[in-house]
Amino acid sequence: MSFDTIVVVDWSGASSPSPVKPSKDAIWIAVARRGAEEVETRYHRTRHDATETLATLFEAERAAGRRVLAGFDFPFGYPRGFAEAVSGEADPLALWRALSDRIEDAADNTNNRFAVAADLNDLFPGIGPFWGCPDSLGDPRLPSKGTLRHDHGMTERRACDRTKGAQPVWKLFTTGSVGSQALLGIARLQSLRDHFGADLAVRPFERHDAPITLVELFPSLIAPTVEALAEDNEIKDRAQVRILAAALAQLAPRQLDAMTREGDAEEGWILGLGHETLLESAARAAFATPDPLEDMPKTDLMPPRLRDDCFAMPQGVSWVPVDEALAKLRDALHPVTGLETLPTARAAGRVLAADVAAKRSNPPMPNSAVDGYGFAHAATGAGVQRLPLVAGRAAAGQPYPHAVPPGHAIRILTGAILPEGVDTVVLEEDTNTDATTVVFDGPAKPRANTRKDGEDVAQGAPALPKGRRLRAPDLALASALGIGELPVHRPLRVGVVSTGDEIVAAPDRPAAPHQIWDANRPMLLALASGWHCEAVDLGHVPDDPEQIAARLDEGARKADVILTSGGASAGDEDHVSALLRQRGTLSSWRIALKPGRPLALAMWDGTPVFGLPGNPVAALVCALVFARPALSLMAGAGWCTPQGFTVPAAFSKRKKPGRREYLRARLTEDGAAEVFASEGSGRISGLSWADGLVELPDAAVEVTPGTPVRYIPYASFGLI
Ligand code: AMP
Ligand code: MG
Repeated sequence: MSFDTIVVVDWSGASSPSPVKPSKDAIWIAVARRGAEEVETRYHRTRHDATETLATLFEAERAAGRRVLAGFDFPFGYPRGFAEAVSGEADPLALWRALSDRIEDAADNTNNRFAVAADLNDLFPGIGPFWGCPDSLGDPRLPSKGTLRHDHGMTERRACDRTKGAQPVWKLFTTGSVGSQALLGIARLQSLRDHFGADLAVRPFERHDAPITLVELFPSLIAPTVEALAEDNEIKDRAQVRILAAALAQLAPRQLDAMTREGDAEEGWILGLGHETLLESAARAAFATPDPLEDMPKTDLMPPRLRDDCFAMPQGVSWVPVDEALAKLRDALHPVTGLETLPTARAAGRVLAADVAAKRSNPPMPNSAVDGYGFAHAATGAGVQRLPLVAGRAAAGQPYPHAVPPGHAIRILTGAILPEGVDTVVLEEDTNTDATTVVFDGPAKPRANTRKDGEDVAQGAPALPKGRRLRAPDLALASALGIGELPVHRPLRVGVVSTGDEIVAAPDRPAAPHQIWDANRPMLLALASGWHCEAVDLGHVPDDPEQIAARLDEGARKADVILTSGGASAGDEDHVSALLRQRGTLSSWRIALKPGRPLALAMWDGTPVFGLPGNPVAALVCALVFARPALSLMAGAGWCTPQGFTVPAAFSKRKKPGRREYLRARLTEDGAAEVFASEGSGRISGLSWADGLVELPDAAVEVTPGTPVRYIPYASFGLI
């Protein structure tokens, strides 16, 4: 189902009307229509007014056959068990009715929510779960502090409230006062349900398609983007509803519809949770300057999400050959970054998001390739040619404004447009002149020493392909062809986190003998930057599942992909893989590769996680071999294979079949590959000693000095 009209409402639990002048902490409603540029915003002083406006709007849209998705920034559901305790049924909509039967909310915002909450608390043992009220209330059943509650038996948060900044539903007073907003909001929405009957569906509790669909939203999900896109001095509430509505209106219809159906059917769900990156790129796309992306269909701007099971390996696979693992990775991933337009001069390192064509031919006009004398070829012949010179000359940037008569010549310099009457140029060195006549040996070749217009690139011809990582020469070409702006992908944000109880975050801190400084994080952050990604430092966490989970949550918000190191194997201390197995969707890939243990691949809240080995040597090899092409693909630049060179070996080694091996290597003065003396996987010095890797094939090999081997310089891996 698709939605034609998106409504986003910032609700308020106030007890009196908001100021006459539009202000914050009041009710704001944004209306965005699919395909329309403008987002309409309205300010309301009371819940009564806002509800009337919504009812009228829904009526009008229904009459016009437009489907409405309306989102509200308060919880639609409560932690499991609450609905049953209040209404006798584990049905959140039975709870809605029970709450609306109790709530009184007058046209001037005066209401009985604290009394209702105190009554509801009576249904539970102990004190709570609701809390927070003005001191003046003095009802012992509703404590003023959360810490005064006990034994009420309800969990503090819904599953979806674990997201950053979300407040628990029990809190009625001060910051957020989410609990009050919900009690008062649910009662109002219940009145809309009564009014519209089966024409209104509340997600995710009701699954039927209806002209009006209500969902729960949380504008803070895209807070940084809202901040970036807000107008100067715009009231935050207004900016939030306006930008979120525009973002939702940008999403592909199927994608948005699928999102409305996600979540828990009792506790409810925040629309878009786990899809923050997508929402943010949709928001940016909604407010991006259209040119030169205007020809691209809007929905193309939104890359689809990666599927949660995208890394699954077929059952029963034991050791996966490197090439198979790479092919699998290539199939599983696709670009995930949003788009923007940049001035050409600032686009180096970015990935071109669309093919671009020449705006003007290069060169735009026929011109001279040398310094010499120009004339019409038809008036010359064989033997010595003597041509009288016209006065003046043609130079680059100083076109000759007259025609050159047949049988005459003109002094012409490199880059000068050929004057009318000139089609051929003789090189200065092949002539003699007394300043009135030029003499040379004929015959001259027709059009000699001239450049045709468009001989490099003709106007409208393809200039640069989509997916190109823009390098200095590409900027030269785009500029020469009059292309002042380029549609590019936003940089892929790569979060890097190190794990391990033994790790000390940085060498500026003391390390006990049983501790080691974090070597992987600076390495992986530098790799990501060198690959033109935005490196996001997620720091170091000890081997503690809760702390790792919290850091991954942070990573999922701040990055498009997360690289972890350490704890990725299957042993007792391998907390990353244990956690990913439990709460993400882990696929441990046992790759037939040395050095490198299993690579842990998982989706965490919609964000892919590459669990790299802790060992710095293995971490680097796995990052170069697997993460680099994967990140390149996700960044929009396509899959990449490092360029290697066949060189003679300067070492001896015998290797068994069954796995691929990478050796730390560099070239000797005579171009042979020597390898680091120790293959020990803890030898970080060897990584630094090397300039590249020697790749030994999966099959058995016996290398002796002179055997051709494949050497891949660090530079071929984009390593700086
Ligand atoms: P793990 O994969 O966690 O079992 O770690 C394997 C080895 O790599 C252990 O010797 C760790 O101490 C070491 N290691 C893990 N993470 C790092 C790091 N960030 N920097 C340096 N060494 C590490
Ligand atoms: Mg460890």
